Amino acid sequence: MTDPKPQPIATPQAIRGTQDIFGADAEAFAHVVETFERVRKLYRFRRVEMPVFEKTAVFSRSLGETTDVVSKEMYSFEDRGGESLTLRPEFTAGLARAFITDGWQQHAPLKVATHGPLFRYERPQKGRYRQFHQLDAEIIGAGEPQADVELLVMADQLLKELGISDGVTLMLNTLGDGASRDAWRTALVRYFRDHAASLSEDSQARLEKNPLRILDSKDPRDKPFTADAPMIDEFLSGEAQDFFGAVTSGLDAAGVAWTRAPALVRGLDYYRHTAFEFVTDRLGAQGTVLGGGRYDGLIETLGGPHTPAVGWAAGIERLAMLVGEVEQIEPALAILPESDDLELKASAVAAQLRRAGIPCWTAFRQNPKKRITKARSDGAFSALYVRSEENRSQEFKITSVSTTDEEVELAKRVMAILGEDRFGL
Ligand code: ATP
Ligand code: MG
Repeated sequence: MTDPKPQPIATPQAIRGTQDIFGADAEAFAHVVETFERVRKLYRFRRVEMPVFEKTAVFSRSLGETTDVVSKEMYSFEDRGGESLTLRPEFTAGLARAFITDGWQQHAPLKVATHGPLFRYERPQKGRYRQFHQLDAEIIGAGEPQADVELLVMADQLLKELGISDGVTLMLNTLGDGASRDAWRTALVRYFRDHAASLSEDSQARLEKNPLRILDSKDPRDKPFTADAPMIDEFLSGEAQDFFGAVTSGLDAAGVAWTRAPALVRGLDYYRHTAFEFVTDRLGAQGTVLGGGRYDGLIETLGGPHTPAVGWAAGIERLAMLVGEVEQIEPALAILPESDDLELKASAVAAQLRRAGIPCWTAFRQNPKKRITKARSDGAFSALYVRSEENRSQEFKITSVSTTDEEVELAKRVMAILGEDRFGL
């Protein structure tokens, strides 16, 4: 019997709206996450790791049925036990659930930070994906405007440390307390009803249930009407005005610039008082890099005790796009055996240097010439040639393309670690 002819195998393609992040983009992504980690430690936010999926009710109840996320963007499915689960479309609802179910009340006010992938069934385009990633920071159990201020100062510092704060503006609004928001809502319904026929289908559907969302619409048909809609300021209670005043004076005192955006609302139902976005025009249509606000009612909605809270989330891909090319500033050393029989020795030397904290580049094939070319293209500008031991004073040779201070310093450290007498000087 002869073997059947092998059939060509079709490679499954990646899922639409997902990304395989590689090269400079991946370096920029990592740089954003590392910078966030450094900044959140400066503000003493505790790191948490959260599940990627939750019971669907965690999101449907807290975000609100009429939001874009719940009505059309969630990845929900039944698991084998027949339970409806959803891949997290955001962090806040899961953190609020954990606050209740894990007894985090004892830590309130609790400052937490996390980051990771999120999932939304959206129309993929530049800066908008179906799996994307966020940085997230929340203060749970603090009703004071100083908490809002601290989160905004932290966001501002993050953008500055990433070197992208130029051209990024903090747009700030208040949605008032429950009573202010209800009065505004009623006025918006009355106003938009008069223009209902000219609004987009989505906005018509939202009109009675969630008119604030019409202000957030990206449909050009809605724009002319959103501009003239009633503004929150007419409806703010004295208390809500005082709260907003405390936030803005806190920002002024900390030297954080902000712009009032009276029509800014956030997509999700649970916001109260402070709402904000950091926006830029350098990313085309997807110009919001960071958004958040106060969500005093959320934890009650999930069955917990009344717990005021405030937080923000930032899109890592969008921040990474602004950061652009991240330079590999730390010099690395290419370890190059001069002949095949020196591979073992070369790998032992690389291990010794790495244990001493020296970043080493290694490869596993090819002659030294080809290796050095590849090493340079991978960003290693100094090379350590590993030679045979016949002549101890010529066991190693170190070369550098550049004579920057960093390269010279690296060479000195390497020679001190391996022993200067082993270099043919
Ligand atoms: P948008 O109005 O752009 O849809 P949103 O209000 O839905 O944004 P949030 O839920 O506030 O966004 O998420 C916070 C941040 O996460 C956004 O400002 C953005 O930087 C990022 N983000 C949101 N959705 C996506 C996505 N699908 N792809 C990439 N980044 C996203
Ligand atoms: Mg959205």
